[in-house]
Amino acid sequence: MSEAVSHFIAGEMVQGTSGRFSDIYNPATGQVTGQCPLASTEEVKLAVQKAKDAFPAWAATPPVRRARVMFKFLDLINQNVEKLATLISKEHGKVLEDAKGEVSRAIEIVEYVCGVPELLKGDFTENVATGIDGWCMRQPLGVVAGITPFNFPCMVPSWMFPMALACGNTFILKPSERDPSAPLFMGELLKEAGLPDGCFSVVHGDKSAVDDLLEHPDVEAISFVGSTPIAQYIYQTGTANGKRVQALGGAKNHMIVMPDADMGQATDALMGAGFGSAGERCMAISVAVAVGDETADELVSRLTPKVQSLRIGPWDDPEAEMGPVINKIAYDRINHYIDEGEKDGADLVVDGRGTKLQGYEDGYFVGGTLFDKVTTDMSIYKDEIFGPVLCVVRAPDYPSAIKMASDHEFGNGTAIFTQNGAIAREFASNVNVGMIGINVPIPVPASWHSFGGWKKSLFGDMHVNGTEGVRFYTRLKNVTGRWPVGPSTGHNLMFPTN
Ligand code: NAD
Repeated sequence: MSEAVSHFIAGEMVQGTSGRFSDIYNPATGQVTGQCPLASTEEVKLAVQKAKDAFPAWAATPPVRRARVMFKFLDLINQNVEKLATLISKEHGKVLEDAKGEVSRAIEIVEYVCGVPELLKGDFTENVATGIDGWCMRQPLGVVAGITPFNFPCMVPSWMFPMALACGNTFILKPSERDPSAPLFMGELLKEAGLPDGCFSVVHGDKSAVDDLLEHPDVEAISFVGSTPIAQYIYQTGTANGKRVQALGGAKNHMIVMPDADMGQATDALMGAGFGSAGERCMAISVAVAVGDETADELVSRLTPKVQSLRIGPWDDPEAEMGPVINKIAYDRINHYIDEGEKDGADLVVDGRGTKLQGYEDGYFVGGTLFDKVTTDMSIYKDEIFGPVLCVVRAPDYPSAIKMASDHEFGNGTAIFTQNGAIAREFASNVNVGMIGINVPIPVPASWHSFGGWKKSLFGDMHVNGTEGVRFYTRLKNVTGRWPVGPSTGHNLMFPTN
């Protein structure tokens, strides 16, 4: 049997004891390369207890000292970019440069939380009434947990734990069981940075471990990122158990291409946003809405040779632009959607099925796939495929294009490519989606802004990162204080006024 990774509980690497494991693959070869232990209820309880024990001292640590731990952690990630990216690529399959890009976005977040003393600074009003002052402060919640997907094993956990820890919480991460090594390594780096044991644990697992966290009375809040059905389940169960929950779900991101767009730029943008990381990004563009038949014809004719000549390969092939998809289930699902699209009558311009690489015949490679003349009733339009499949939908005019993006059940990101500022502004104001790009295909906000979609792409009120992240991981306390001078002037039963 291949080697099992460990849990990381209270500063120690510990072997799983449940006897249950999930296979880890090299997606380029289809070979099992490791085992991920699936935690038992006792293991989850142990991590929560250790986090609960560690909380009072960590919460009482001045923010400026918590920030120093984050500065050290930042240093350590910067020294280990190559190692982290390699751990990601080996288990996820994305090409190394892409994995390095993911690590760089995680680094930006840690840089932001290094400013936590400023972020936690409260408000003070002298004389809310005569001789009475009022102020508010943000305090940590306690033990909080994060449950993360396979597609960004370093960046998505980093949307959660750096901010949660900097704000004074203790944190339990339940990463994806498909690529658990990068999050584990970040646990080691946090320990090396001086984070006290128990403040951060990594517990691997499946639904059972997630349910244990959702039900544990000492877990105050849950951050989740993953597919929509699970996000909805996490939100409903977590809130029913009295927890604060933010649950980010799936996506179907539309990019509108107006007739006046720079077609060279729009085409290149669609290549990167549609096929980068084999389409396994929550902000991937999976629908290109071309306004007018002329726009569509030109777009498809420019895209076709580029999609046909995408360089596909294993993660460590420096020439490869795109790797395999994560596993056999994803491979089968994506191929099935391509079958469905064809059956439903869409025009299959480039077919990625049956892609085989010499020496990697058992790998989960799906070639770049391009559909034209997709309509909104087709499953390839309605569902999140999460693979390298780009659908071109033809819209007669701008109002019908914006309506498509607005009416879709997902509302993570969307983009418009145009040279008309007025249309771009109208689109940004009125489209019913959370993150908007103007001539930017993947509008992931920088870490000091907040990230989050609308509709079925996010359940809960608060987004991740930026000041929304600070709010999610803290609760507000208000104090009204008075230092009376002289004797009491007598009691008064009326409602106090100022
Ligand atoms: P997933 O929903 O299968 O898994 C996410 C997490 O939930 C994993 O840790 C997994 O172990 C756990 N999980 C799986 N089944 C569960 C169950 N029945 N009960 C409780 N927990 C369960 O998602 P995935 O396949 O790992 O990731 C891809 C999905 O994540 C896509 O839908 C993608 O759009 C989404 N995603 C969204 C964002 C965003 O910002 N909105 C970002 C990244 C990924």
